[in-house]
Amino acid sequence: MSKKPMSWSETIKLNNRAFSIFFKRYPQMVLSRIISVVWNALTPYVGIRLSALVIDELAGSRDTGRLRFLVLLTLVSAAVIALMSALLNKWKEVQNSGDWWKVNHLFFEKLLDMDYVSRDESKTAELLSIIRQNQSGVGWGLHKVIKGYEELCSSVFTLVGGIALTVFLFVSRVPESAGAYTVLNNPLFIVLMIAVMLMITYVAPVLSNKADSYWALNVKFLNRSNRLYSFFGSLGYHREIATDVRMYRQDRICKNNNQENRENSFGSKGLMAKCGRGPMGLYNAASAAVSVIFTGVVYTFVCLKAWAGAFGLGAVSQYVASITKVSGGMSALISALGGMRNNAAFLVPVFEFLDIPNNMYQGSLSVEKRRDRKYEVEFRNVSFKYPGSENYALRNVNMKFEIGRRLAVVGMNGSGKTTFIKLLCRLYDPTEGEILLNGIDIRKYNYAEYMMIFSVVFQDFRLFALKLGENVACNTAYDREQVMDSLKKSGFSERLSELQDGVETYLYKDYDSNGVNISGGEAQKIAIARALYKDAPFIILDEPTAALDPIAEAEIYSKFNDIAGDKTAIYISHRLSSCKFCDMIVVFHDGAIIQQGTHDSLVADENGKYYELWHAQAQYYTE
Ligand code: ADP
Repeated sequence: MSKKPMSWSETIKLNNRAFSIFFKRYPQMVLSRIISVVWNALTPYVGIRLSALVIDELAGSRDTGRLRFLVLLTLVSAAVIALMSALLNKWKEVQNSGDWWKVNHLFFEKLLDMDYVSRDESKTAELLSIIRQNQSGVGWGLHKVIKGYEELCSSVFTLVGGIALTVFLFVSRVPESAGAYTVLNNPLFIVLMIAVMLMITYVAPVLSNKADSYWALNVKFLNRSNRLYSFFGSLGYHREIATDVRMYRQDRICKNNNQENRENSFGSKGLMAKCGRGPMGLYNAASAAVSVIFTGVVYTFVCLKAWAGAFGLGAVSQYVASITKVSGGMSALISALGGMRNNAAFLVPVFEFLDIPNNMYQGSLSVEKRRDRKYEVEFRNVSFKYPGSENYALRNVNMKFEIGRRLAVVGMNGSGKTTFIKLLCRLYDPTEGEILLNGIDIRKYNYAEYMMIFSVVFQDFRLFALKLGENVACNTAYDREQVMDSLKKSGFSERLSELQDGVETYLYKDYDSNGVNISGGEAQKIAIARALYKDAPFIILDEPTAALDPIAEAEIYSKFNDIAGDKTAIYISHRLSSCKFCDMIVVFHDGAIIQQGTHDSLVADENGKYYELWHAQAQYYTE
C-alpha cells in the first residue's frame, strides 16, 4: 500500500496532459461532452426561477395576464431547453462513438511506432499489461479522464448558477417588525450559517472520496491481482495453448491461482472486502449521514426567514431548490477532484508507456533503387549484446555478401543465426562495429526505405485470419495475378486450385465459417509467397520450416534456389542438408563465425564444426 495520495500539482499535470492529448486529436468529442454538461448544469435554474415567479404571482397579485405570460414562458423555455439538450446529445453521441477504440488506438499507434528494441523488452510488456488490466475493470486510466473534466465542469457551473439564485436568501432582510427574528439579519449569523453549510457540503464528499481512495492506495496490489486474474482467468481464450491446457490439465493451475487471487484481493475475505467492511464502509456511511444534516439546516434557515417575512412563497421554493443544488454542486466538485486524483495514479503507467523513447538513430539517406539490384552488405567487426544481457550474442562478425548468390547460415540452436538477421534488418543496432550497405553505415539510411530491401520469413511468422490474397499482399487491395504467381512459385498452386474462393478464401475460421484451416507446411508456403510478393532484392528464410520434416525442408529450400532468381538469398537452418546447395555457407558457433566456404570444402575439413554437425545429422536423411 503506498503511503501518500498523489500531490495536487501532479494530479493536475497528469490530467491536463491526458486532456490535451484528446483535445488535440478529437476536439469535437471533447467539446460536445463539455458543452453538454455545462448546458445540463445551468438549464434547470431556468425552471426553478420561473416556478418561483409563478408561485409568487399566484400567492400575490394574481394578475391573469402576467400569469398567462409566465406559464407560456415556462412552457416555451422548457421546450427550447429539451430541444437543445436533444441536439447536444445527438452531437455528443456521434462524436463519442467508438471512444473505447479512440483510447486504445493511442496505445496501438505507440506500439507500432516504437523501436523494435523497446517492443521486445519485458518492461514494455509489463506496462502494457498493467494499463490493460486497469482499463478492463472500471476503466481506470485514460478512459476516465474526460469523464473527470465533465464532472468538474458540471459541478462548477451548477455552483455558479445555484449561487446566483441563492444570493438573495442571505441578503434579503427580515423586517424590523419581526421582533426576535431580526437576529436572522445579523451578519455574524449569516456567516455562521454559510460556514455550517459549507462545512457539511465539504465533509460529505471528502468522506466518500476517502472511501474511494482505498482503490488508489492499493493500486500496486490491485494491478498485480488484475494481471494475474486476466491471465489465469482467460486461459481458455488462447487457441495456441488449447492442446497443452487439455494435455496437462492446466485448468487446475489456473483454478488454484484464480482462487488464491480472488481470496487475497477481490473475495469476501480479500483485501478490498476487508477495506469495505472496515474504513471504506464507515466513510461511505458517514458521508451519507452528513448530507441529510445539510438538508435539515437549509430547510430550517429558509423557512425561518420566510416565516419572519423576509420573502414570499415563491422564493422559498427557489432557495430550497437552488441551495440544494449548490450543495450538490459542491459535493460533485469535491468528488470530481478526488476522482481525478485517484485516477491520476492509474495515469502514471499510461504515460510511462507513451513516453518510451525511440532512441534508434534514424538517418535520412535514401536507399538507391538499383535496377541491377546490386546491393552489397558487409558486417565489419560486429558484436552485439541484447539489452539487459551480460553476454555477447554475436562476437566480431566479419563478412561480405556476394550479390545474387545463395548464402547459408548454419549452426546449432542459440549460436546467433537469428540475431545476425535481426541486426542485418536493423531491428537492433550493433553494440560494436558496423554494418554497411554499399559502403555506407546502414544507420545513415532512411529506416523505412532500408526495410524495403528485405523480405524475411521468420521462424515465428504469423498469418492473419483474413483472405489468402490479403495475407500474401499484406494489404486489402492487391494484384490478384501477382498473388497467384507468388503462390505458384512457393508451391501452393495445388492447394489453391482446391480452394472454392481462390485467393479470396479466408484462412482459419475466425471471421468466416467457410474459412480453411491450413497445415504448417502450407502456412510456410504462404509466408514465402508473401516474401516473394514484396519483391525485395534480399530474401531471407530464417528456419520457417520448423514444422516440417528435414526432407520436406530440403525440398523447399532446393526449390527456392530457382524461385529466388536474381535476388540475394540467405537461408538459415540448423539442418545442414537443406543448405548444401548454397554458394557459400557460414558456420556460427557461440555467436561467432568459425568457418565459411562451400559444402564440399567444409565437409572435407575433418576437424571443423561443419564436419561434426554434418555427420551427426546425416543419419536422419536419405539422399
Ligand atoms: P539461433 O538463431 O542460432 O538459434 P539466436 O540468435 O536466437 O540463436 O540466439 C543467440 C543468443 O542470444 C542465445 O544465447 C539466445 O539465448 C540469446 N537471445 C536471443 N534472443 C534474445 C533476447 N530477445 N534477449 C536476450 N537474449 C536473447
